[in-house]
Amino acid sequence: MTKSPPPGGPAVADATRLAHLGRDPARQHGFVNTPVYRGSTVLFATLAALDAYDQPYTYGRRGTPTTHALEACFTALEGGAATVLTPSGLSAVTTTLLAYAEAGAHILVPDSVYQPARRFCDTVLRRLGTTVEYYDPLIGAGIAAHITPRTTLIWLESPGSLTFEVQDTPAIAGAARAAGVATALDNTWATGLYHRPLALGVNIAVQAATKYPVGHADALLGAITADAQAAPRIAATHGELGLCAAPDDCMLTLRGLRTLAVRLERHQASALRVAGWLAGQRGILAVRHPALPGDPGHALWRRDFTGATGLFAVDIARPRPGRLAAMLDGLRLFGMGYSWGGYESLIVPSDPATCRSATRWPGDRIVLRLHIGLEDADDLIADLAAGLARLGGAQ
Ligand SMILES: *Cc1c(COP(=O)(O)O)cnc(C)c1O
Repeated sequence: MTKSPPPGGPAVADATRLAHLGRDPARQHGFVNTPVYRGSTVLFATLAALDAYDQPYTYGRRGTPTTHALEACFTALEGGAATVLTPSGLSAVTTTLLAYAEAGAHILVPDSVYQPARRFCDTVLRRLGTTVEYYDPLIGAGIAAHITPRTTLIWLESPGSLTFEVQDTPAIAGAARAAGVATALDNTWATGLYHRPLALGVNIAVQAATKYPVGHADALLGAITADAQAAPRIAATHGELGLCAAPDDCMLTLRGLRTLAVRLERHQASALRVAGWLAGQRGILAVRHPALPGDPGHALWRRDFTGATGLFAVDIARPRPGRLAAMLDGLRLFGMGYSWGGYESLIVPSDPATCRSATRWPGDRIVLRLHIGLEDADDLIADLAAGLARLGGAQ
């Protein structure tokens, strides 16, 4: 019977851990996978047990063997003290922000942040009386000058959504620690497999597990992994908000994690090939991919990450009407749609100018964000080559 590697044994590689974490066949009649526990009510055998309230499971919302198995995977991968699960990636972001929001508080957020997170800051946090200040994601240790006595949290997202700025996470985390301020990093792009924010001094790693951990575009899920210092605050806010992740979605995420290492290897290799090819094409003003040697974030990426995934962007000149539609509508393999991290390739155009306030976006260009899926890279390149010809057509 397959056993989980016992704690305290020799260290094993991440791919090995992903195959074994969060399951205990001996407790499941030998079945390899942790079953899906559906449940609200959990019975207490005696009044004494009810009063003590210390049995492992007390109520479905507060966790089941299925959710605990998945939490254990994220906690181990990110090297944290504890993980809580939420129904979407965005709710993982907002729960973390809420844990540090109060009237009069000040929260620092990078200008490159995931746009729906920015919207939450500008609406709900503002209503609560929390001031959100957007900062240049490339600020590094300069963040210290923006910390005030009211600062409760510094948010990071590295690389940034859409535009892929790599942050100097150890410098920002160091400045925050020196000032007694907590830090949280949206680690969706790299996952805990390729980037360990907690090891770089960050208190909390947030992930849209919807993307690579689920990996098949068939569920939404968020995970918040915190160090020992931040974990009680995250657990309390999560519990008070009544959040819980659906059992089937946890099972799909557990299943996805088993193949995460092999999938990411392929996403990484194919994305690098496509990005390298795009860099030489007419009409491509820049390729934003931190693992490309010419990328402005490359040195920090090499220092802080152990891999790259399948998402990057290219800059193109603000297209004439009709040209962009001709390019995108005619693609055979790339789908147009939000989210990413599944086996399929996706492309969406976006104008970062609409969601910047601390930095300036050059007005002459927009980005195409690409997710490179598990298709053959040559097929993807052929699809893009035909698309770029349509984009530049009749010039
Ligand atoms: C997609 C995404 C989220 C939100 O995840 P959902 O599951 O779609 O709510 C948060 N942060 C980043 C960086 C993302 O790409």
